[in-house]
Amino acid sequence: MARVSDTYGSMVFNEHTMQERLPSATYKSLLKTMKQGEPLEIEVANVVAHAMKEWAIEKGATHFTHWFQPLSGITSEKHDSFLDPVSDGRAIMSFSGKELISGESDASSFPSGGLRATFEARGYTAWDPTSYAFVKDEVLCIPTAFCSYTGEALDKKTPLLRSMSAVEEQANRVLALFGWEPQRVVPTVGAEQEYFLISEKDYAKRQDLVMCGRTLFGYAPCKGQELEEHYFGAIRPTVNEFMKELDDELWALGVPARTKHNEVAPAQHELAPIFTNANRGVDENLLTMEKMRLLASHYGLVCLLHEKPFEGINGSGKHNNWSLSASKNLFDPGESPMDNLRFLVFLTAVIQAVDDYQELLRMSVASAGNDHRLGADEAPPAIVSIFLGDELDAIVDALVDDHEYESAEKVAMDLGVDVLPNFLKDNTDRNRTSPFAFTGNKFEFRMPGSNVNLSDANMILNTAVAKSFKDFADAMEGKEGDEFETATIAYIRKTLKAHRRIIFNGNGYAEEWEREAERRGLANHRTTADALPCFVDPKSIALFEELGVLSEAEVRSRYEVKLEKYNKLLNIEARTMKRMVRRAYLPAINGYAAEVARGITAVRAAAAGVEVGQQEALLRKLLAGVKEIDAQLQALDAAHHAALELVDQQQRANKYAHEIVPIMEKLRAAVDEMEIVTDRDHWPVPTYNDMLFYV
Ligand code: ADP
Ligand code: MG
Repeated sequence: MARVSDTYGSMVFNEHTMQERLPSATYKSLLKTMKQGEPLEIEVANVVAHAMKEWAIEKGATHFTHWFQPLSGITSEKHDSFLDPVSDGRAIMSFSGKELISGESDASSFPSGGLRATFEARGYTAWDPTSYAFVKDEVLCIPTAFCSYTGEALDKKTPLLRSMSAVEEQANRVLALFGWEPQRVVPTVGAEQEYFLISEKDYAKRQDLVMCGRTLFGYAPCKGQELEEHYFGAIRPTVNEFMKELDDELWALGVPARTKHNEVAPAQHELAPIFTNANRGVDENLLTMEKMRLLASHYGLVCLLHEKPFEGINGSGKHNNWSLSASKNLFDPGESPMDNLRFLVFLTAVIQAVDDYQELLRMSVASAGNDHRLGADEAPPAIVSIFLGDELDAIVDALVDDHEYESAEKVAMDLGVDVLPNFLKDNTDRNRTSPFAFTGNKFEFRMPGSNVNLSDANMILNTAVAKSFKDFADAMEGKEGDEFETATIAYIRKTLKAHRRIIFNGNGYAEEWEREAERRGLANHRTTADALPCFVDPKSIALFEELGVLSEAEVRSRYEVKLEKYNKLLNIEARTMKRMVRRAYLPAINGYAAEVARGITAVRAAAAGVEVGQQEALLRKLLAGVKEIDAQLQALDAAHHAALELVDQQQRANKYAHEIVPIMEKLRAAVDEMEIVTDRDHWPVPTYNDMLFYV
C-alpha cells in the first residue's frame, strides 16, 4: 500500500509541482500573483497552462473545467475536453493560457437574484490562483470566481476573497500600531463536517429522503441516542471502509482530513480536517461533501448531509473554526504584557463584531434545514452569543467593572499595561452549547448546519471583524507610546462595556437563556424567513460597501436568491408530503383497516358471539387516524396553494415558516401515530428502527 506521504496532494497542482514543472521565471511570476495578488500576464498564463495540461494528462485527465460556486452554494462544473482536431484528421490535446485564466459560462440557469438579465445569459469565470488546480475524476478542475460581464459577483467565492483582503488590510493597520511590519494576514478555517450514512436500499424506498434529503415522517425509534453508545464507538467495518476510501481520495486532492469518528446519534459520523486559509478551507469542505456523497454508493450507502434528517435524533452541524493568522496566530494570548494588550484588542474586535452583526451571522447559516436544528436541544439556539471561558471572562469583568483582576490562580492583576499578566490559554472548559466559543486560540462558530456553504459565514465574520479593526485604527492612528497604551486600554474598556451583552458563559440550551437574551436585547430569529431580511438592512449594506465586500445590488440579489431557495425547498417539501400521504400512507392505513374489518367479520362468522372489542377499537383508531390525516392534508393543501399565490417572496417565506411548517408538523404527527399501530407489512416505507441501526 502506498504511503500517505507519497500520495498526499498527488492530484494537486501545488507549489511543489509548479516548481518542478515550470521554468523558474514563470514560477516566480506565478508566485507573485499568488502571494501578492499581482495580475497574471497572458504569456505567463500560456506557459502555466501548458505545464498544467501535461501534468493533468499524466494524471489521467481528458477534460478541464472551471470549478466554481454559484449562489446555489454547491459547486458547478462544465467539462470541456482538451481535444483540438487538426487539419489532417488527427487531434492534439491543447489548453491555452486564456482558457486557464477565464472562461465563459452560459449562466442562465444559475440563480442571480435579478443581477443578470436573462438576455445576457453569459457569466464569466476567472481563475483564483490562490487556490490550486486539481484533477478529480479525470477532469482538471480550476477553482474560479464567477462574475457577470458588468463585474458583479455571481458566486460565493468572490465576496469571500474580498472580505479576506478587507480583514488583512485593517488588521495590518492595527498591527502597525503595535510596531509590527506589514505582512500577510489570512483568516483560517477548519470545518468539522457531520453526516449520516444509511443503506441505499432504505433510502430508495423513501421519497422524502430522495426529494428533500430528510424524513418528513417517521415515529421515533425504540432506542435513540440515550445509551450514548455510538459517540466515539467502534466504527463498523463497512463504514470504516468508506472512511478509508474517503481519506485516501481527500488526501490525494490535498485535503488534510484528520479526524474521523462516530457521532452522538446512531448512524451519524464526523470528519474534521486540519485548518487552512479560509478560501481553501471552504473549497476543501465542498470537495469533502462531494466525495462523501459519491463514495458512499461504493458501499451500498447513502450519505445524508441534511441538517436534520431524522426528527428526535441529533441533526448535523458544521463547526466553523476560525482564526487570523499572520507570522503567528493572532488569537494566541501573548507571551509579553504588550502582546497581551494586542491580543485583547483583537479579542475585543471580535466581541464587537459578533455583537454588532449578530443578525448577519445568524442570517449566514439560515436555511430550511437548519431551522429544524437550531434551538432543538442539540445545537445552539438561534440566538448568537459568545463564550469566553472563565479566565478571559474574569479579565473582561475586571476591565469593564474596573476592579482588580484575580485569575484562577488568584494572582492579583493591576490593569495598568506594564503588569498585564501572561494569562492562561483557556482551553479547559469547552462549553458545547455556545454558538460562538473561544477555544484557546480560535473561535468555533457552531451554528452552521452540515449542508451549508461556509463562504457566507466567513465572509460576514471577516467583514465584521475588519470593521472593528478599522474603527480601532481610525481612533488610534497618530498615538504612540504611553498615550497609545492608555488610550487602547480605555478603548477596550469602553468597547467591552458596550458589547458585554453578547458574552454568555452559561447553558445555551436552557429555556431561561431565551428570556435572558431577550432582556439583553439580543436577536432571536427562529426561522429563515425571520433571519433573512437583516441582510438588506441599511446597516448591513453600509458595512459591506464600506469594506468593499459587496455592493448594494449584490447584497439585494443574494437576499433574493436565499429567499427563493427557501421557498422552493418548502414547496418541494409540501408537495412531497402531500404525495406521500395520498399515494402511500393513506392507502396503507386504509388497506390495513380493511383487513382488520374483514378479520372481524370472519371471526364473527366463524364463532358467533365471540368477543371482538379490541379489534373494533383498533379499527376505530385507524379510521380516526385517517380522518385526522385527511383534515391536516386539506389544511396543508389550502395553505400551500395560498402561499403559491403570493408574489412577494418574503411574504411567501413568512407564510411557509409561520403557517405551513406548523401544519406539516401536525400532518406528520398524525401519520406517525398510525405508524405504530399499523402492521409492519402494510407500512409503505422503512421506519426509523429499520434505517438507523443496520449500517
Ligand atoms: P473539537 O474539540 O471541536 O473537535 P479540535 O481541537 O479537534 O476541536 O479542532 C477542531 C478544528 O479546529 C480542526 O479542524 C482544526 O484544524 C481547527 N483549528 C485548529 N486551530 C485552528 C485555527 N487557528 N484556525 C482555524 N481552525 C483551527
Ligand atoms: Mg468542534
